[in-house]
Amino acid sequence: MLQSLIFRLFLRVNVLSEKIAFVTHPDYTKHYPACDHPECPDRVRVIGNLIENSPLAAYVDKIHPEPAPIEQVTLVHSPAYLEKLKTACKNGNSWFDYEDTYINAFSYEIALLSAGGCIGGARSVLEGSHERAFCAVRPPGHHAAEGLGMGFCLLNNIAITARVAQREWGLEKIMILDWDVHHGNGTQEIFEKDPSVFYVSIHEHPTFIFPGTGRRWERGSGPGSGYSMNIPLPPGAGDSEYIHSMESLVIPAIKEFAPDLILISAGFDAHNKDPLSDMTVTEEGFRKLTALTLKASRDYSSGKVVSILEGGYHLEALRASVRMHLEELVFFGKEEKCLSGEE
Ligand SMILES: [Zn+2]
Repeated sequence: MLQSLIFRLFLRVNVLSEKIAFVTHPDYTKHYPACDHPECPDRVRVIGNLIENSPLAAYVDKIHPEPAPIEQVTLVHSPAYLEKLKTACKNGNSWFDYEDTYINAFSYEIALLSAGGCIGGARSVLEGSHERAFCAVRPPGHHAAEGLGMGFCLLNNIAITARVAQREWGLEKIMILDWDVHHGNGTQEIFEKDPSVFYVSIHEHPTFIFPGTGRRWERGSGPGSGYSMNIPLPPGAGDSEYIHSMESLVIPAIKEFAPDLILISAGFDAHNKDPLSDMTVTEEGFRKLTALTLKASRDYSSGKVVSILEGGYHLEALRASVRMHLEELVFFGKEEKCLSGEE
């Protein structure tokens, strides 16, 4: 089985030369909790090890991130919020805003480095050196609102990236696809009145899981009305329900909106082994979600995709899911040739 997988991977490697951008940084482990917590530094360690010990290493260009400049972070978060976070870290506080969201002395700097990593991934895609990027960053971001940290999130990495992409590179329309098992309430709130950023989320139904938002009728407001799409799924939903949601709702939305760029809030906590959810998605399911997104991007958008890590708390499942996600990001479009090569 393993030999077959390795053989298949090498076959794919032989027919491809295109690389993707891969963002991570050893300092992402410096944001750590004082006690056991699911959002732990090992999450990025297992992803880093995956790259180091795989033929995939030859097909990624590592991007070394810089901290996000304050003037870019304040496109989303208020200066008062940043000051509050900076002071809380400096004062040695252990928790910030919500009792589930820890900080340590390094968290402010590492949150800036996490946002900066995502901007770096977007830069590598929007300045033309890569078509796709994966940003293995932490702390995650999609629960953070303009002036509030929550759900393990301090700065909203994907929202900052979208705003910077619009301001620095002149993009008009961006779609954020969020398949983390939790609704990205922060991202939705930031863009709910904005028709230039279409937020789409597939998640476990808010009756059953944090943060309790993301009902189907939440569709944006004012000029942003119709530019938020929520697809809550019942506990136990798995690959087939997620793929059906993509095919019946998300892909038609991508086709109609025709975004200049697709950003993915790539959480892997809908995996059937994840301790924080009740869903049953497999790593193969995440591969299919990735492939469907890339196909829609190729058909109805620019083909450019920046994927940003959000949740995923079972380390083995996270590693396996990210591996599938990365393989698809690297090898998408070559499947037919590879499959014929396997015969
Ligand atoms: Zn999550």
